[in-house]
Amino acid sequence: MAENGFLIAAEHLCKTYQAPDHAGRLVLDHVDFTLKEGEIVAILGKSGSGKSTFLRVLSGLTPPSEGRVMYRGREVTEPATGIAMVFQTFALFPWLTVLGNVELGLEALGVGRDERRERALKAIDVIGLDGFESAYPKELSGGMRQRVGFARALVVNPDILLLDEPFSALDVLTAETLRGDLQDLWVERRVPTKGIIMVSHNIEEAVEMADRIVVFGSDPGCIRADIPDPLPRPRDWASAGFRQIVDQVYGLLTTTPQGAVGRRARGEVGAPDAGIGYRLPGASIQQLTGLIEALCQPPYSGRADLPHIAESTQIEDEEMFVLVEAMQLLGFGNASGGDIEATAAGQAFADADILHRKQIFAEHILKNVPLVAHIRKVLDERPGHSAPESRFLAELEDHLSEEEAQRVLETVINWGRYAELFAYDYDRGTLSLENPQ
Ligand code: ADP
Ligand code: MG
Repeated sequence: MAENGFLIAAEHLCKTYQAPDHAGRLVLDHVDFTLKEGEIVAILGKSGSGKSTFLRVLSGLTPPSEGRVMYRGREVTEPATGIAMVFQTFALFPWLTVLGNVELGLEALGVGRDERRERALKAIDVIGLDGFESAYPKELSGGMRQRVGFARALVVNPDILLLDEPFSALDVLTAETLRGDLQDLWVERRVPTKGIIMVSHNIEEAVEMADRIVVFGSDPGCIRADIPDPLPRPRDWASAGFRQIVDQVYGLLTTTPQGAVGRRARGEVGAPDAGIGYRLPGASIQQLTGLIEALCQPPYSGRADLPHIAESTQIEDEEMFVLVEAMQLLGFGNASGGDIEATAAGQAFADADILHRKQIFAEHILKNVPLVAHIRKVLDERPGHSAPESRFLAELEDHLSEEEAQRVLETVINWGRYAELFAYDYDRGTLSLENPQ
């Protein structure tokens, strides 16, 4: 199976999604990737960087636009047996028991009734659901349901497991237990699986589990870094080696390759989505303000180790990426090497009272967010100083998917309202100038 020493390989993989009313959007850009036998690879990257798409293409669920996936010496052109996926949440059939839900994975493969039962019982046992065979999904906790998802994947004796944020919907303790159990199965070779690719949005989880960490860059999705994680198992989250890898990954995820989120947003770096179509980070004002305040106070006093301040402010990694991108975009902070430093403007914002904060914020979004300047200009020029939001949404959809256009518009409306640069009427769906002069 592992001819050429690899289990599965992606060669120059590209994926373009075709929207009905405008040109295609490149989501994966020439991704080359190899999974070797015996490896766990974690994939980290911002939301929208194409991680889920990558797994779907690897598994054969979605065809690539260019390039190919090679598995067992053959090109993958349809959902491959031998590759099983686990998702963040599982659609279990409520009218089937745990056993029935797990057996389902085998029915599609045409496995006979007795063998189905035997294998399903074994998978249920392996994943720690023993005693719950006859329970219905509604009787199970979230963690138990996710175990059923794992059992359904494991029952086909997959060569390769593709995990798409499988622990993200679980509470911290449940996630920790399930992660530990999965690692035990793997280390003790109680599952026939030969390789695992796991998308995660938690850096520590990735550093704990993986032999290698692949960091995806965005717009378009690509592999930015491939970091070996050779720490001995079981891994101690507090050890110096562990913290060093966490810092390294944090650094990669909070800086752009050009080190210049702002330049890119303003269209000064040759990115296809620059300018008004820049995918604004969906940072909430509350959290952004909270982070800037924390950063500018002791013990940080303007400079912090990102994993450290994330822990002390209880901000999740994924939210932190969004906030740090927003801080850099607005000119309130600079991130490098896993640290964040407040700029003079960031410090001024932290020190200001509510009214001045709004003024500083307004100044900075007008200067740094072309979409804000654009909306202001349109409203200024219109006789009634108002415009339907659908107009801006349509413009955004030239650059972004429908869903993302919606999210970016929501973000810009939130920011603009807070800055009192424009007002928004939810019922009418219109934007207008707050105080037209
Ligand atoms: P991630 O898992 O890293 O968050 P995804 O792979 O889900 O990223 O999405 C990458 C990009 O592709 C996003 O911009 C998303 O909106 C877009 N996308 C994902 N699936 C589709 C689809 N079926 N049709 C069109 N666009 C899609
Ligand atoms: Mg995803």
